[in-house]
Amino acid sequence: MPEKILVVEDEPTLQETIAYNLKKQGYKVTVVGDGHAALGAARSLDPDLLLLDIMLPGLDGLEITRILRREMNVPIIMLTARDEEIDRVLGLEMGADDYLTKPFSMRELMARVKAQLRRSRLHQEELDHYAEKDTPQETLSFGKLVINSTRHEVTLGGDVVSLKPKEYELLLFFAEHRGQMLTREFILERVWGWDYVGDSRTVDVHIRWLRKKIEADPSNPERIITVRGGGYRFEG
Ligand code: CA
Repeated sequence: MPEKILVVEDEPTLQETIAYNLKKQGYKVTVVGDGHAALGAARSLDPDLLLLDIMLPGLDGLEITRILRREMNVPIIMLTARDEEIDRVLGLEMGADDYLTKPFSMRELMARVKAQLRRSRLHQEELDHYAEKDTPQETLSFGKLVINSTRHEVTLGGDVVSLKPKEYELLLFFAEHRGQMLTREFILERVWGWDYVGDSRTVDVHIRWLRKKIEADPSNPERIITVRGGGYRFEG
């Protein structure tokens, strides 16, 4: 599976050059040109890496980073036109992993992309390794679906289901409230926290992702049920 990279850049020439070079390296590339589209694309694509311009129409790159950091662990490389220390500091404080100042060479960009993806894979392997230490395993089982809350691992019929942190938290929250109708607002408050700035659509998006991973037929869900006019109910 090629790694998915979301490129957020409003300058057409740069968009094309970056996309062309990334595709040549075998990555799956999506390009958007404004801040609001960037949020939508990040949520629906679930990319492995985000290349993010700071100065954008709509929301700027700093704001996008601040919002996405609460939702996903995606590595973010910021692209800034201004060689201003303040942008870099702010970007890194908001949770960006690296930055490049324009103009940059494609060779430099590719090296940074590779480094971030590698770092992100190693981090995941480290987490997996930790989880294998000999500790008593706490599990919740729902038929073929097993949630191991010690290892933060979910399996379906014995196969590991690859979940992003928020997807896992959401599933665990459902599992702990099996059979109860949970409103979007309640889920948002409990899984994302009081100070979360996004709206309840975030919940719907994550549930769509989860269903794809744990439902036999995601369009006809039997585990996470939509309750009309209300929210969701986990059947197990
Ligand atoms: Ca720009």
